[in-house]
Parts: sequence; C-alpha cells; structure tokens
Amino acid sequence: PLKSIVDISTLLKEAVLLTESEALMKNCEVILNLQEDRVLNVSIDTKQIKQVILNIIKNAMEAIEEIEDDHGGIIAISTQPDGEFVNIIIQDNGNGMDKALMNRLFDPFFTTKENGTGLGLSVSYRIIKNHRGDITVDSTKGMGTVFVITLPMVGERL
Ligand code: ADP
Ligand code: MG
Repeated sequence: PLKSIVDISTLLKEAVLLTESEALMKNCEVILNLQEDRVLNVSIDTKQIKQVILNIIKNAMEAIEEIEDDHGGIIAISTQPDGEFVNIIIQDNGNGMDKALMNRLFDPFFTTKENGTGLGLSVSYRIIKNHRGDITVDSTKGMGTVFVITLPMVGERL
C-alpha cells in the first residue's frame, strides 16, 4: 500500500547521509559504490527499506567498535544488478562472527550486546521477505561481515 518506485541508488545515498555524523565519531568510513550508468528501479516501501539499510550500517559500526585497535573501520556499500533482481551488498571490516552466531542473528531477541534488543535483523528479515526479496550473511570471525539484500527490480513500462 505504501509502495513507490525509486532508484535504489538514490535511497542508498539518502541512507548514508543519515549515518555521516556517527561514522565520523566512530572513525569509520562509509563508501558507496553505485552503478551510476544504470537506473535500478525497485517498488518498495521506502521508509521500511531505508530502515533496513540503516539497521545494517548501525550493526556494522558497532562491529567495528568491538575491535580493540582503532584500525579505521570501512563499510562498503555496492549494488549489482542480476537479471530481474538487484543485490545490495554491505560489507564491513568489523569483528565478524563464527558460524554458530551467524545461524542465529535473524532470530527475534538474539543479541550479543549489553544493551541490544536483538530486533534489528529479525525485523529487517521480515521487511525484505515482504518485498519478495532475500537477505543473506557471510562472515569471518576477526575479519568482517557481508550482508547481501536482494530485491526484485521493476522494468520500464512501454
Ligand atoms: P542488536 O543490534 O540489537 O544486537 P540485531 O538484530 O541488529 O540486534 O543483531 C543481532 C546480532 O547479530 C548482534 O547482537 C551481533 O551479535 C550480530 N551482528 C549483526 N550484524 C553484525 C555485524 N555486521 N558484524 C558482527 N556481528 C553482527
Ligand atoms: Mg542492531
């Protein structure tokens, strides 16, 4: 009901702008690698999808904070069209996770943080599934994490 057609690049730029001051405070850099030559239109509830992106960026910043040495965190966000779908790839060089943790992170109320709610990713998962998309994670403990969000694109109407 609240869906509109937007270029995913525009939405990602808007989301990243909102994280800039926190990134500065936490000494992390958020890098956007977009497909400037192509419009990647998706039909989405922009508020919800922006919230998902912000949840994942926030987790990435917190994962970077967990690292003892202040190594300069990097959060790299890119897009990759794949047939009828677009992949949004969000990669960080934070503390990473082992397999056991990776298997639980979409569970409601699962958190490893003292003041965590454990709701960010379970809500994000539901939002992406409601958009007929998918969200997956790959991670290496001590190295970093990559989230991939897949959303169906809308073609141009003739
Ligand atoms: P919360 O942030 O409140 O803990 P989330 O649902 O957002 O809840 O995340 C659940 C858990 O998944 C986190 O507590 C953390 O252990 C793990 N996690 C999520 N994103 C990352 C990440 N980028 N790097 C390492 N661990 C992560
Ligand atoms: Mg969170």
